[in-house]
Amino acid sequence: AFWVGVSVGGLSSFYSELMKGLGAGSRLWELLEREPELPFNEGTVLNEKSFQGALEFKNVHFAYPARPEVPIFQDFSLSIPSGSVTALVGPSGAGKSTVISLLLRLYDPASGTISLDGHDIRELNPVWLRSKIGTVSQEPILFSCSIAENIAYGADDPASVTAEQIEQAAAVANAAAFIQNFPQGFSTVVGEKGVLLSGGQKQRIAIARALLKNPKILLLDEATSALDAENEHLVQQALDRLMEGRTVFIIAHRLSTIKNANVVAVLDQGRIIECGKHEELLLKPDGMYRKLMNKQSFISA
Ligand code: ATP
Repeated sequence: AFWVGVSVGGLSSFYSELMKGLGAGSRLWELLEREPELPFNEGTVLNEKSFQGALEFKNVHFAYPARPEVPIFQDFSLSIPSGSVTALVGPSGAGKSTVISLLLRLYDPASGTISLDGHDIRELNPVWLRSKIGTVSQEPILFSCSIAENIAYGADDPASVTAEQIEQAAAVANAAAFIQNFPQGFSTVVGEKGVLLSGGQKQRIAIARALLKNPKILLLDEATSALDAENEHLVQQALDRLMEGRTVFIIAHRLSTIKNANVVAVLDQGRIIECGKHEELLLKPDGMYRKLMNKQSFISA
């Protein structure tokens, strides 16, 4: 699935916050120079000190507005405890990416609730909610601006991010070395009008962006295709560093992720049908998980 959920959140927070960090006349500015439609910056903001980042889906029903006759979730329930790693697996088209869209409030359920630390996310301020969620998708979106700007975009206040912070995030994300190899380093413009990066390089920039954002909750959509061996290792190491100490929800496509997850949740026909550790799920002789493991190819690297 194509999922555009790069980082900070909605265009409105992006608009209000990123604009400060961009020079007038930048292409990004032109693209975003329009008022957000929703009264976005309203609603409850949870106490930072007691914030845990525990997520829960309870009896969620959902269909896309464009296809109301096709239910995606029917009585979908899943608990994602604070600080744990939950890997979601399921057949193609089952609705894995949709889970992330609902968490980011790109859509709301028809019924049922999604809660964060026990609060229905519809009552929370969407800008605040998204400031607590970092995302790395399988095809990260990079803007046609400098690498530094692309990384700074992750921060709550991109204008206040220092070059040192950007460089440090890039180093932890295993991106510093390749960036510094460009003649213009962090000022290198990427995208259509600049250098074209490999899939693994893009992912490491997206990881640097998420590191700078430092969110309590991390939503990851793992790449479905394997990278070359070097990129594979560097991306995986960077992801492991990024995941530390956060509530992590991963659409998993690699066996190692599934094996290391605290919980594997199996999505089928609109609901979570099995939930547990990889080894436990494998023990169920007629389980969907076993079938999925036999049928679907997971990246073994
Ligand atoms: P994959 O493993 O192939 O990436 P997935 O499990 O992530 O799939 P989703 O992308 O969540 O599945 O899609 C679930 C279903 O919803 C699919 O049938 C898809 O075609 C449909 N769908 C996704 N986005 C929309 C949309 N914006 N409007 C209507 N239908 C959609």
